[in-house]
Amino acid sequence: MSGIRVLVAGASIAGPALAHWLRRRGAEVTVVERAPELRPGGQAVDARGVAKEVIRRMGLDAAVRAARTETAGAHTVDVNGNALETFRADDNGGDGYISEIEILRGDLSRVLYDGTRDGVEYVFGDRIAELTQDADGVEVTFAGGDRRRFDLVVGADGLHSALRAMVFGPHERFVRHLGLVLAFYSVPNEFGLDRWLIDYQAQGSGRSAGLRLSRTPPGRWPCSPSPRPTSTSTTATSRPRRTCCASGWPAWAG
Ligand SMILES: Cc1cc2nc3c(=O)[nH]c(=O)nc-3n(C[C@H](O)[C@H](O)[C@H](O)COP(=O)(O)OP(=O)(O)OC[C@H]3O[C@@H](n4cnc5c(N)ncnc54)[C@H](O)[C@@H]3O)c2cc1C
Repeated sequence: MSGIRVLVAGASIAGPALAHWLRRRGAEVTVVERAPELRPGGQAVDARGVAKEVIRRMGLDAAVRAARTETAGAHTVDVNGNALETFRADDNGGDGYISEIEILRGDLSRVLYDGTRDGVEYVFGDRIAELTQDADGVEVTFAGGDRRRFDLVVGADGLHSALRAMVFGPHERFVRHLGLVLAFYSVPNEFGLDRWLIDYQAQGSGRSAGLRLSRTPPGRWPCSPSPRPTSTSTTATSRPRRTCCASGWPAWAG
């Protein structure tokens, strides 16, 4: 792989992680990210089992652990907030319901980026506008006007990858909705939550709602699942809230 020129689209999780391994094998890696800078935000990602081993082999164990949320565990509660079950982050060797290594998506992305930025070229605020493959490689035209040649181009630009659509066809051919919808929003920390999160599962409906402390913004309230959203964004965002409020519990969310 030494000297091979690889272009990766997307600098979130998959892009910088791939860049790490390609770089380690001697490739010259460029990552192009549409956003003007690394995107912050996102909820907690739990690393369990093989993911922990991958982090260790990447040499990022200390950095990931330093950026952990330090969630102590979770209580499942009934509709009145009485604890039904408790799950600790050190249950099951740290691979339990709340894992010992829990990190916010934005922090994980930052750790992966910091671990690769010295050996990888990152281009922010640009994207692939066109690409043509020939026998020797790929000719890429960027939206910003640059034209460059690569031996390999990889799409790590997310679930609705623009690169995949450009090369292989529309999303509908590849994306299958699983019928789950999550909505996240912030509420004041009226419950005095600290390192424990609480989770409510409505009997028989398949719906759940949870509250956890978030550093910024101060509180977040996820709800899942609800019916497939319609194409209008207003309906898509208001339906989970209405659905969850119908479960009785989210009066807590105010
Ligand atoms: C801001 C953000 C918050 C998220 N929050 C959560 C969460 O809370 N929980 C969860 O389970 N998942 C979340 N996700 C999705 C989650 O990161 C991914 O499902 C998973 O981590 C896989 O990551 P990925 O790197 O393959 O893709 P993604 O994380 O989706 O990243 C794709 C990256 O490609 C960039 N991009 C998009 N189009 C182009 C293009 N044409 N050219 C160049 N770059 C492009 C995007 O800006 C983004 O940085 C979030 C994603 C983002 C971007």
